[in-house]
This record gives sequence, structure tokens and C-alpha cells, in this order.
Amino acid sequence: MAAPQGLGLVACAACGSQVSPAAKACPSCGDPLKVSTPVDWSGLWGSFSLVLLIFVCAGAGVVFGSLFSPDYVIVYAVGGIVTGGVLAGIGALAATLRGRQ
Ligand SMILES: [Zn+2]
Repeated sequence: MAAPQGLGLVACAACGSQVSPAAKACPSCGDPLKVSTPVDWSGLWGSFSLVLLIFVCAGAGVVFGSLFSPDYVIVYAVGGIVTGGVLAGIGALAATLRGRQ
């Protein structure tokens, strides 16, 4: 193995050659280089947490409404959903802007 290691090269899963991760396919065997890309869970987790935020706000609205004014629980629930949606929208916008940097 006289080939220099490092420089961000990745090993081809098919033939073991050191290949630039920017390459679309292995220059030695032509195998498409898609194996070494890690799954990006941050986007999925971000979406999940935003949906969770809406449910938490809606739940808080229902609990709050049932404690203080049971006749208007639906109003508190809708208010919680709207509040959660606004917060989730701000969070998604912030995450999008942060990702562009
Ligand atoms: Zn290869």
C-alpha cells in the first residue's frame, strides 16, 4: 500500500481504491460512490422536533384550558396549535437560515 492516505480520500467499497469523495463514481472500477455518505439525521430530527413542538403547545393549551375555563378548551387547544405552529415556523426558518451559512 504505497498510495498516500488521508487528504479526505475514501475507500471504494467495491475495489478498495482511494477515491476522492467528490467523484461521482470510482475511476478504477466505475462503482457509484454512494456508500460512504452518512445519513443526515439532523433534517429528520428537526422536522420531528418541530411537529413535537406543535403537539406540546396544543397539549399545554388543552391542559391550561381545562383547568381554567373548561367551556373554552377548544379555543385554548387551537391557540396552542397556532402558537406551536408559529414557533415551529420560526424554528424552521432559523434552521434554514443557519444551514445556508
Ligand atoms: Zn472501485
